[in-house]
Amino acid sequence: MASIESISPLRHPARDIADTTAAPWKSILDKSMFHLRDLPGHLMAAGDALDAVTDYFPMRINPYMLGLIDTPDGPIGRQLLPRAEELDDLDREGDPLAEEHQSPAPQIIHRYPGRVVFLVSNQCAVHCRFCMRKRRVADGRQVTRESIDQGIDYIRKHPQVNEVVLSGGDPLMRSDRQLVQILETLRGIPHVRLLRIHSRMPVVLPQRITPALAGELSRCHPLYLNLHCNHPAEITPEVASACRLLADAGMPLGSQTVLLKGVNDDVRVLQELFEALLQIRVRPYYLHQLDRVPGTAHFRVPVETSVGLLRELRGRLSGMGMPHLMVDLPGGGGKVALGEASVLESGEDSWKIRNWQGHIYDYPVRQ
Ligand SMILES: *Cc1c(COP(=O)(O)O)cnc(C)c1O
Repeated sequence: MASIESISPLRHPARDIADTTAAPWKSILDKSMFHLRDLPGHLMAAGDALDAVTDYFPMRINPYMLGLIDTPDGPIGRQLLPRAEELDDLDREGDPLAEEHQSPAPQIIHRYPGRVVFLVSNQCAVHCRFCMRKRRVADGRQVTRESIDQGIDYIRKHPQVNEVVLSGGDPLMRSDRQLVQILETLRGIPHVRLLRIHSRMPVVLPQRITPALAGELSRCHPLYLNLHCNHPAEITPEVASACRLLADAGMPLGSQTVLLKGVNDDVRVLQELFEALLQIRVRPYYLHQLDRVPGTAHFRVPVETSVGLLRELRGRLSGMGMPHLMVDLPGGGGKVALGEASVLESGEDSWKIRNWQGHIYDYPVRQ
């Protein structure tokens, strides 16, 4: 069981992040807000119980994202502002996917034979209240050079690993130089064929994506990038520019979305989100069922609702924009795509299949 004591509050905000040269994104990040009292009055809501919430998982909102919050109950307010409801759900396992049990080196998660997740940062440009790794991100301590080296060493010694997913925290919280150094070292390992970055930075601090960074990353191909975006209101002109830089630098872009009650559990919102992503050359990759992390019960969407949303989307959305609906099985069982539950009965010769409108068809399976 995770206890409130087991995760210490953010003690090292924005430390060791990057080089000392002040890039514009770093000065935005430096103005991040960690305390409810720093927020404008109309966002502070009912404050009393919230110290206990932020002791468990600190708030972090940067000025760019603050500018997108209209009300506490809007789609971005719900994602980033601490809420008393989190306290009702703290008594659960802090690591529901048993990642720590599949971690052979400090920053490596090795669950599938051929690919590993490499957590190269524990920090993010905002704290999403539903974070699946809040147990690590809460602490705010930057990953040391030494544990990065241990991770690289593990990958080097395991020839079955042919793909490395840089994640965190957010890998783009590291400086350009540190990031490129990690990528180039991995690139130099003969059995590592694919590199992937999982980052929310193009969405929550799009100023991070500079021409210089895009240019550096383009030297590490084949390099894929999956961003994390949950609502069309997150797709601003700044985000579009960031994605243009990345796409023009040759990176195939994908997105991950977490299905969140009160944020995006609505077929029109999802349709608008995925269409907007396609417009900026991002292909929706995964739509995630929320992991059962502490403090997130109020965000949970029932699985049958998720499946129904996916089925409805099928008719409304270009197939190019359809993500896979994923559950990550508890205890480290891994990801499974749920699909649209369109097969209602599977007889020997004929299956009953439901289309996006709910109409049912007999489909001869041995024709
Ligand atoms: C999600 C995940 C991956 C990557 O899975 P893909 O389905 O290839 O995107 C790899 N390792 C772990 C531990 C994961 O959780």
